[in-house]
Amino acid sequence: MTYSEKVLHDLKIKNPNEPEFIQAAEEVLESLAPVVDNDPRYQKTGLLERLVEPERQIMFRIPWVDDNGEVHVNRGYRVQFNSAIGPFKGGLRLHPSVNLSIIKFLGFEQIFKNSLTGLPIGGAKGGSDFDPKGKSDMEIMRFCQAFMNELYKYIGADEDVPAGDIGTGAREVGYLYGQYKKLTNRSEGCLTGKGLSFGGSLARTEATGYGLVYITEELLKDHGKDISGSRVAVSGSGNVAIYAMEKATQIGAKVISCSDSTGYIIDENGIDVEAVKKIKEVDRKRISAYLEIHPDATYGEGSIWDNVTCDVALPCATQNEINKEQAERLADTGCYAVCEGANMPTNAEATQVFLDKNVLFIPGKASNAGGVATSALEMGQNSIRSSWTFDEVDAKLKGIMINIYYHMKDACEQFDAVDNFVVGANIAGFMKVADAMMAQGIV
Ligand code: NDP
Repeated sequence: MTYSEKVLHDLKIKNPNEPEFIQAAEEVLESLAPVVDNDPRYQKTGLLERLVEPERQIMFRIPWVDDNGEVHVNRGYRVQFNSAIGPFKGGLRLHPSVNLSIIKFLGFEQIFKNSLTGLPIGGAKGGSDFDPKGKSDMEIMRFCQAFMNELYKYIGADEDVPAGDIGTGAREVGYLYGQYKKLTNRSEGCLTGKGLSFGGSLARTEATGYGLVYITEELLKDHGKDISGSRVAVSGSGNVAIYAMEKATQIGAKVISCSDSTGYIIDENGIDVEAVKKIKEVDRKRISAYLEIHPDATYGEGSIWDNVTCDVALPCATQNEINKEQAERLADTGCYAVCEGANMPTNAEATQVFLDKNVLFIPGKASNAGGVATSALEMGQNSIRSSWTFDEVDAKLKGIMINIYYHMKDACEQFDAVDNFVVGANIAGFMKVADAMMAQGIV
């Protein structure tokens, strides 16, 4: 058994109930095999064993009271995975599906994503099984305050800086920040995604979706294709999806779909992004409400990936939303590029289909890194007590995404895996973290 195989084997025995975490670790360790199995220094320093074990994981009780005076208890998580290259950084997910396996998978992926940005940030993730859907504003506030009553002990501007994720938008970050300040008496950049009036960065809201489109544009350009004029299918209609649709439309692509957890919309006239923003960000309605504005569009229940044909697919909803059959259908109906906006939306078998059928594929840890990169820019602005214009932040974001693309591409070429950006992203992200861990000794 090789070194990387042994670490994976032991990890599976140690964490039998964490399928998402094992899925993510398996993909990374397989990609790293040519690096770590051929250099005895990694085994000698137990580097992989240390890499797959979080530095710290915290689970706690979140008791809160609803508008009817009824008490609820949710479970809170913060997994601080790796701080070798900088303070822990990663979002907080609020969704009933949240469990330790999902938070560990996201935290593990975050290590490599954050490293790929070229900025000094470690990897972490957190969240709760709380369901924000259908809750009043006051209930959301009381929940966020109760969450922070415990979380504040473990975070801070130079220690761990959480951010938004599914279910945690500007409103939730505002309530979390308010409670942190109340408890600690400190006005510091302990969270990113803050409102513009209290330390938030311009372009953070747009960053993940815009960044996804910037890297997709570069990928296509580098392969003799043009995103402008292409048919782009998007899934999801949350933060990432909305701003991916907005930027893709701005640069001349035709976005034909979006979705939510109940169904999908296909609009051959091009998705009306402003209408989606209103439905999701203002009215907080189901995506089917799109038909009230555009009755010519099609609404269906089930997965968008069973029903759409496109040149470019940008899955922006959630993990494991594209399976093997759906990947085959997409490739066989002319889709030539898939760039992940969500974290791990393509399952392992589907990823293999894309690689086998020569569909250009960029994994989320590279293609959705624009969000965390801009969060790190927010941290920088907070530290120097300053703020940059939208255009300054957007230009930095674009530069970072283009750098990520060529950094990945170099790693692909160096390890004889041309156009295999799964391998390229994992190796490029890993090298910096591994060097830092080696230099800092066995800690
Ligand atoms: P949001 O909560 O804003 O939106 C999520 C979207 O996905 C919603 O449209 C939601 O539908 C849909 N969705 C959620 N679960 C499912 C499901 N099981 N099936 C189908 N659709 C589903 O989240 P974000 O846009 O912020 O995040 C989307 C993804 O991008 C996540 O994987 C997240 O980790 C990742 N990501 C986000 C970043 C960010 O900056 N926001 C940064 C990097 C990655 P509904 O409205 O019905 O809930």
